Amino acid sequence: MLKMIDLPYPLDALEPYYSRRTLDLHYNVLYKGYVENTNQTEEKLKKAREENNFSNIKCLEKNLSFFGSGAILHELFFQNLGPAIPTEPDIRLMEQIIKDFSSFDKFKMQFIEAAKAVEASGWCILVWVPKWESLKILQCEKHQNLTLWGCKPILVLDMWEHSYYLQYETKRPEYINAFWNILNWNEVNKRFSNILLKK
Ligand code: MN
Repeated sequence: MLKMIDLPYPLDALEPYYSRRTLDLHYNVLYKGYVENTNQTEEKLKKAREENNFSNIKCLEKNLSFFGSGAILHELFFQNLGPAIPTEPDIRLMEQIIKDFSSFDKFKMQFIEAAKAVEASGWCILVWVPKWESLKILQCEKHQNLTLWGCKPILVLDMWEHSYYLQYETKRPEYINAFWNILNWNEVNKRFSNILLKK
């Protein structure tokens, strides 16, 4: 059974860049739904195995990927946000960013443009690709499409309308600009060094 993660800060901690109301609905209603739906899907799969009835298997496997990925990405998202205290990539991560994107500014520009251009509902994600030993930026559609197999997400930005519409309405670029103020690089650094340590 999946359990919801605790928010690592109070609901109003991201103001004014991310409103209390938006975070409240996002965490307590939408994220909760992904966790519950993942658990329900697991229950249904268990029942299918017990009853030898796989007539609904296509739908269940699809739901597992959608709701499960939704739960995972929301956890990474809430945990890589934090109060507007300046943080930055550590030396190891900065070196890798420069290696793979030529400069931090180029990385940021590509990330912003990729985020703005996410089609419909999805995510913009900085990932580590172990096979290639390099960082890549991915646009994700819904929660589960357009990935590279085996990649490890280290920085995620929710580009679903539910993540910004209440506060920023149609102004996607303003939401993306605000995001950098509440991005907690310390968490991103930690994820990256944990991946390298386990190599
Ligand atoms: Mn979301």
